Amino acid sequence: MTDIKEIVVVLKWSGKEYPLSDLTDQDTVEVLRHEIFLKTQVRPERQKLLNLKHKGKPAADNVKLCALELKPNFKLMMVGSTEADIEGACSLPEDIGEVIDDFDDAEEREDSVENSAVYLAKVQRRVRDYKIAEISPPREGKNLLVLDIDYTLFDHRSPAEQGTELMRPFLHEFLTSAYENYDIVIWSATSMRWIEEKMRLLGVDTNDNYKIMFYLDSNAMISVHVPERGVVDVKPLGVIWGLYKQYSSRNTIMFDDIRRNFMMNPKSGLKIRPFRQAHLNRSKDKELLKLSTYLRQIALYCKDFNLLNHRKWEHYDPKKNS
Ligand SMILES: [Mg+2]
Repeated sequence: MTDIKEIVVVLKWSGKEYPLSDLTDQDTVEVLRHEIFLKTQVRPERQKLLNLKHKGKPAADNVKLCALELKPNFKLMMVGSTEADIEGACSLPEDIGEVIDDFDDAEEREDSVENSAVYLAKVQRRVRDYKIAEISPPREGKNLLVLDIDYTLFDHRSPAEQGTELMRPFLHEFLTSAYENYDIVIWSATSMRWIEEKMRLLGVDTNDNYKIMFYLDSNAMISVHVPERGVVDVKPLGVIWGLYKQYSSRNTIMFDDIRRNFMMNPKSGLKIRPFRQAHLNRSKDKELLKLSTYLRQIALYCKDFNLLNHRKWEHYDPKKNS
C-alpha cells in the first residue's frame, strides 16, 4: 500500500475555497467530481473544471489523478451552479444515495472492491481521522451489530404528527433482545445531528433496556467506484474493526436496506426488507421480530459468522450451520 499517496486538492468555486482531503493519487477524475459534489452540491455533469488538464486537454473522467501530476494543495478552479430546483438537493444528504439504484446480484464485483488497495487506504484514513464519540463502552465477549436507520428502523419519508408513528414495529423489543448478545452501533448516511435527533425522537437514546455503543455518520463512509454505477458511498466495517480489535467478520453483522452499503464487507451484511409506508404497514411488519430470533440463534450456535449466508437468514437451521 506504500505506493498510494494521499493528495489534497483545494477547490475554488464562487469565491470560496474548499479543501478536498479524501483523495488518493489512484482515484480518478470521476471520484474527484463526486467529492466536489459532496462538498458543493454541484452535480458532476455541471462541473466545469477549468484548469484540470491531461496532455493539454480537459482531463477525462477515467484518468487517474496521478497522471495529472498535480502539485501539493493544487488549486482547482470550477464554474458550475447547484440545481436549487432539484428537490432535496439542499436538504438531507441521504437523498444523494437514493438517486442511485441499488443492485442485488453483484457478488463478484463486491469481492473485487473488498480487496482494492485504494479503498483499504481510505478505510485506514477513517480509522486514523474519524472521531468516534462513545456513548456506552464495549462489553467483554459480545458480538457486534451495526444498524442502518432510514427504512431499516424508521420510515423517514411518510408524513406524521409524531416520529414514533414512523418507527418500525418492535424496534425497542428488537434492540432489547439484540443487546443481550451484541454491542450495537447505529450507522446512517446522514449527518450526526440528524442521527441524534432521530434517535431522540424514537426514544432509543433513553431506553433503559439497552444501550447504543456509538453512532457513525456519513463522514465515516468512503466513496468507491463501481464500473456500471459510477461513484457510490459505502459503509466499510473496517472503520470499526480498525479501532476495536475485538470485532471482526467472525462476530459482526450489519443490517441495511441498501446492499451496496455492504460492498466492502459483502459477507457481513444482511439486506432487510425496507420499512416504507408506515401507516399502511405498521400493523403487518414483523421483520424485526424475526430478525431478533436470527440474531439470538447465530449468537448461540455460530462461532464464526463467516460461515453464514445472510441471504438465506430466514431458513437458518442451527443444526446445519454452526
Ligand atoms: Mg436505509
